[in-house]
Amino acid sequence: MEAHKRPTALAHLLLRQVIRPGDLVIDATAGNGHDTLFLATAVGEGGRVLAFDVQAAAIDATRARLEAAGLAGRVTLTEGSHAGIADHAAAGTVAAVMFNLGYLPGHDHGRITEAGETIAALDASARVLRRGGLLSVVCYPGHLGGGHEAESVGEWFFKRAADGWTVTRHGAIGCRRPPPFLLLGAAA
Ligand code: SAH
Repeated sequence: MEAHKRPTALAHLLLRQVIRPGDLVIDATAGNGHDTLFLATAVGEGGRVLAFDVQAAAIDATRARLEAAGLAGRVTLTEGSHAGIADHAAAGTVAAVMFNLGYLPGHDHGRITEAGETIAALDASARVLRRGGLLSVVCYPGHLGGGHEAESVGEWFFKRAADGWTVTRHGAIGCRRPPPFLLLGAAA
């Protein structure tokens, strides 16, 4: 994966520097399980990953990917909304939370992430993250419905920056369509 071209790959590169063996981390949008597998590898044998998705197809795809890698034992899969993240982890205990917004590639494009639920889940993520923990969100403003959501998420991160978080944004420039971008925040 070429991290300078793909925000999802860049997120892996940056999160790898912060996640330590034994950490608790969260994949808020399991999808096809690429981020869950990355996280399961990063936390090592003593670590724990919580992964959420509202679609059974996504949970199945993620489980299959983890089992193929022999890492399913480190991961708790929840078929349900990421808005409930704070019911699954105590405040200040999580090293990283990842979101990859939009639809499940190769499946039902009808079930996309929704701005209101995404913001509720970001609020919950901020509560469970430890100081210095990373929140990464890949936004797709070029997708149908993605523009409004990307704007809401951007505003949410602006407020966190005002709260003392370190927030950065990474994405291509000079594209014809609005390109996907990564928002990354380190919790204060
Ligand atoms: N990270 C994935 C891609 C995620 S696609 C990968 O690497 O393959 C976005 C996913 O978010 C979809 O699978 C969709 O079902 C899920 N999703 C949408 N709304 C959700 C919600 N409220 N809670 C949890 N997952 C949700």
